[in-house]
This record gives sequence, C-alpha cells and structure tokens, in this order.
Amino acid sequence: MPPLKKTIPLLNLKKEYRALKAELDKAIYNSLATANYILGPEVEELEKKLAEYLGVQRTVGVASGTDALVIALRALAIRAGKEYFHSEDEVITTPFTFTATGGAILRSGAKPVFVDIEEDSFNLDVEKVEKAITRHTVGIIPVHLYGLCCEMEGFGKLARQHLLFLLEDVAQAFGATYRGKKAGSFGEVAALSFFPSKNLGCFGDGGLIASGNEELAELCRMLRTHGGKDKYDVEYLGYNSRLDTIQAAVLLVKLQEIERLNSLRRKIAATYNEGLKDLSWLKTPVEIENGRHIYHQYTVRIEGGRRDWVQDRLQEKGIASAVYYPVPLHRMKLFADRAEVRGDLVHTEQACREVLSLPVEPLMDAEEVAYVIEALRGLKI
Ligand SMILES: *Cc1c(COP(=O)(O)O)cnc(C)c1O
Repeated sequence: MPPLKKTIPLLNLKKEYRALKAELDKAIYNSLATANYILGPEVEELEKKLAEYLGVQRTVGVASGTDALVIALRALAIRAGKEYFHSEDEVITTPFTFTATGGAILRSGAKPVFVDIEEDSFNLDVEKVEKAITRHTVGIIPVHLYGLCCEMEGFGKLARQHLLFLLEDVAQAFGATYRGKKAGSFGEVAALSFFPSKNLGCFGDGGLIASGNEELAELCRMLRTHGGKDKYDVEYLGYNSRLDTIQAAVLLVKLQEIERLNSLRRKIAATYNEGLKDLSWLKTPVEIENGRHIYHQYTVRIEGGRRDWVQDRLQEKGIASAVYYPVPLHRMKLFADRAEVRGDLVHTEQACREVLSLPVEPLMDAEEVAYVIEALRGLKI
C-alpha cells in the first residue's frame, strides 16, 4: 500500500504559535495593558538584548527590514555629507536577492551595481566585486542568502582598502555565524527583518538596524522618528518607522527559542543532505568553512531543466516548495534604466533556473522530513 499522502507546508507558523502560545499571549496582553504602544519599554529591552546577542554596540528597532536598509543607507549618505546619495554614487550588491535590497539603494538616491554570485554558495563573489569597484563606488551590500554568511573577511578587506561602507543584509540570517561572529556584526551597519516568515519573525512587519558605530546608530535613531532628536524640530528628511511595542514583546519571547529552532533547522538540513546526496540530478546546499548556516531556506539545485517539473511532482504529493528567486533584480523593469550590471551574471542566471527551496519548518517531525526525501527519491529521472 502506498504511504498516506501528507500535506507539508514550507513553514507552519500556526504550529510555531501553538508551541509558545501561553507565553506569547501573556506578553501581548501585558503590552496592551501597559499601553505604551509606540517605542515602549519592550522595544528598548529588545534593542539591548539584540545588541548583546549580535555582539554590536547599538541597535535601532524599525518598522520593517526594508526600512532598516533604507534608513541605514540614508544615514550613510548623511554621514558622507549629503542628504541622499547622488545617482552616480554606486552601491554594489547581488542581483540574486529579494527586491528590497536593490529598491533600498534606489530609494537612498544611489545606483545599484549588480555583480555575480558564487556558483556554490549563492552569495556575492568577493573577487568579482573587487573588479567592479570604480571611483564612484561608495559601498557594498552583501546579502547572507538563505541563512549562509557571505565571505565577510574578503568583504571587510575590500571595504577597508577602498574606503567603502559595508552594509550587511541579514534579513535571512538571524543567528548565522562566520568565524564565531554573528551575521550583522561585520559591517559598519546591518539590516535585519522580523517579517513573519524569517527565522526570527514577529506577528506583522518589523526590522532592526545594528551598528558598531555610534554616529550611524544615532542618525538611524533620528531618521526613524522624522529625522530629528526632537520630532518637533528636525534636521533631516526622516521617516515614521518604528518597531511596534507589541511586536517587540512578541520578539522577546521568540528570541529565547531562536537558538533551539535554528539548531532544529540545521538538523533537518543534515537529514535532507544525507537522504539526497546520491541523486545525480540534484545538488544539496553547501556550507562554508567556519560558518554556521541557519537554513532560513533549504535550497537545492535541480539540474537539466527539470526544476519546474520536480516542483509539480512534489505538489502532487502535498509537498510545498518555492523558487527564491525566479527573476534576478537586473531583469526587473524597476532596475532596467536605473541600475548597472558589471561583469557577466552567469551564476545568477543559472541559479534562477535551478533553485528550489524545500520545507524546512523547525517543528517538522522526522516522518515529514522522510516523506519529502522519499518523494524526491521516488522520481523517475
Ligand atoms: C525579507 C527580506 C528583506 C526585506 O524585509 P521586510 O521586513 O520584508 O521589509 C530584505 N532583504 C532580504 C534578503 C529579504 O529576504
């Protein structure tokens, strides 16, 4: 008899909520009752705890990961003596990322310059970035894609040599490490997201800026409340972008669980790796030396033009999967006239054709993981 069909979502946020319901409800009701809805004590407590966790001087809670990127870039522009960057100021990043990374560069006034990724890690390639630096380059945004840290030693060196800023996009890598240091503690400044589906997610939108630089952190703090220390007398064109107190309360509860959940993700990834390693048409994800991948996504490559076919077969068996990302940023209309491509983007184009992210819900049970592995192993290829 064939095994019973299961339904396996990419992520099961209801299950995660139920597992912590008592504590989460208590924290939420408590923050409702105290009625400090904007920048209440929970926000400050979370900012302190996250600065400690990440190993940075200062953190600033904002309304989303996208805003964290935009505000960090604006602070960098202001520090460079301009309210916004100019359109000839170039910021190098990867085209194989979520739209927001490139959009934030445009919103800060600068020009995105897209450089190819490494074939194995899906992350921005240090050597290719070095070749793309010109006298107009002002900074680099490495994105720790799928939960794997970029080669931050190389990017740190480039930033120091060429006097560039380094802004880390940590939206997918909360808790990932590289040489014992947390993602978000390498650049001058980092942007984190608490969108519900991220490793550390809240119950709506939320984000955070982390920085080891007091001046930048202070500028970000001003920009999140309209652009001044005193919102009735402002210096810069700012935003209304704060992390809600109620979301901070949720995050304080979930922060206590993040190490355990990230470890569970790693365990699921290890089981997948073992179960899928001998399939000739599928490549399991790589890790880097001295790095701790936290598998925001468990993303395989399906070779030979079979990716969409494989995704359909999984769907028939009740298994959800996703393509992050089908369209690279340089192919989007938004960036067509506003960004530049430097060097070829062969690995990016190939990744867009081949990647498939499998369910990596930390609370998945062993049977569910085995079911996904069996479904892939059973394909007639
Ligand atoms: C999710 C994400 C963002 C944006 O975060 P939001 O909180 O959704 O605004 C930025 N960059 C990357 C790489 C992301 O995955």
